Amino acid sequence: MPEHYDVIIRGGTVYDGSGAAGVAADLGVRGDRIATVGAIAEDATAGEVVDASGLAVTPGFIDVHAHDDTLVLVEPDVTGKVMQGVTTVINGNCGAGVVPAKFSRRFGEVDGSKIPEWETYGGYLDAIAQQPPSQNVATLVGFGTMRAGALGGGKIERPATADEIAQMQSWLREALQAGAVGMSTGLIYEPDRYSTTDEIVEVAKPLAEYGALYASHVRGEGATLLDAHAEAMEIGRRAGVRVQISHHKASGRANWGRIRDSIAQIEEARARGEDVTCDQYPYTAGSTRLFALVQNGRVGDSGADAIPGSDILLAMVPQHTEWEGKSVADLADEWDVPDEQAAQRIIDEGGSGTIVVQFAMDEADVRTILAHPTTMIGTDGLGFGSRPHPRHYGSYPRILGKYVREEGVITLEDAIWKMTGFPATKFDLPGRGFIREGAIADLVVFNPDTVTEVSTYEDPRRTPIGMPWVFVNGEAIVRLGQHTHRRAGRPVRRGVDA
Ligand SMILES: [Zn+2]
Repeated sequence: MPEHYDVIIRGGTVYDGSGAAGVAADLGVRGDRIATVGAIAEDATAGEVVDASGLAVTPGFIDVHAHDDTLVLVEPDVTGKVMQGVTTVINGNCGAGVVPAKFSRRFGEVDGSKIPEWETYGGYLDAIAQQPPSQNVATLVGFGTMRAGALGGGKIERPATADEIAQMQSWLREALQAGAVGMSTGLIYEPDRYSTTDEIVEVAKPLAEYGALYASHVRGEGATLLDAHAEAMEIGRRAGVRVQISHHKASGRANWGRIRDSIAQIEEARARGEDVTCDQYPYTAGSTRLFALVQNGRVGDSGADAIPGSDILLAMVPQHTEWEGKSVADLADEWDVPDEQAAQRIIDEGGSGTIVVQFAMDEADVRTILAHPTTMIGTDGLGFGSRPHPRHYGSYPRILGKYVREEGVITLEDAIWKMTGFPATKFDLPGRGFIREGAIADLVVFNPDTVTEVSTYEDPRRTPIGMPWVFVNGEAIVRLGQHTHRRAGRPVRRGVDA
């Protein structure tokens, strides 16, 4: 009897996710697991045979920095992510989580009628299981969302009381019990920015009981970058938890090059035995709420972290969609006011949920951070509005095309480690992130000679080329370059191989 598989991927070069060089091997998949890595007999049969000759076969990419908490429920195809090879997203970053649900929409408004109700993190993960998207979903607990809930919403410019801290800890414990991978903060945002270091340390303490990590969008990414990183490391030490610095960068022209010091700071912490790593999206532009840029004094020509209005593009403007694609400077010129005033007027008339794309980083810094061994990859994608940042569609193929093939900033096997095995290890996702027999069959098959991002700032919603196959839990989600609309995703729980 010839052997039978559900899927055979024949003749590819397998990169196993450990950073090891590629090896010629066939893969056989049965159900949701990799059954065979090696030579598979010519007469073996399969439901689907993929000819991978000339192609790379890798674990599915794990997007450690996602904001798709509600997007996966309202747009279950999650086209932007799966077409670039992302098989698992880690949502709940930058302090914005899903509990309490009432406060859970920091980034982008979505159609609430399509979202099921939930009370707890466990309830949210159950909703993912009942209404599965095309990719797997893991979550961080958002400190800011809990803080808004515990302190009553609105403008909260005070530290939390002991009772409020206990409330946040109890939400966090429930979430960790249900399988959340850690807790995030977004310390430039409301209301996280009013929390003290002591408050965050107290709230974070249950993380140590579960071995979960602390991820932070730190308090400053420009002039105060080193102090901000030092605070994240202090929280890690005092709470006894591992640290993930979100979207490592030096933002604002005056701060370019500062990442040499922040990298040295991370290396010193690691030499002391602290588990500090970071993530990065591979672009010189960021994307966030315009309100946050204004509140942090970042719009205009003055100020240590300033970004000129000509470098700030409107991605999503809820009440004035016709402004999307213009810059803050375009509207400032039209209205004959300074950039700072124009930004405020855009928020007042366009909506406080206005999202922008801001050009604020140095290409040399982006390369240096990418090449550093503490850096893993995340998109930080915000898939809302007509002009979202292209990172939501192109981060992974951009690294594989531009930074690996064209510029040689990192090797292909190193890039794959940063996208797969490294995040699976740090975020404690057993069964994922590596190609080995018995592992879950989250897989990407791409052409290393042609894979390319084609999304741009002008036309961001374009899916990449050179990535013909993506499998999630053994099912083809992308087949010969086309989305199959299969909903094979699952909730992923910390430490659970399922
Ligand atoms: Zn952030």
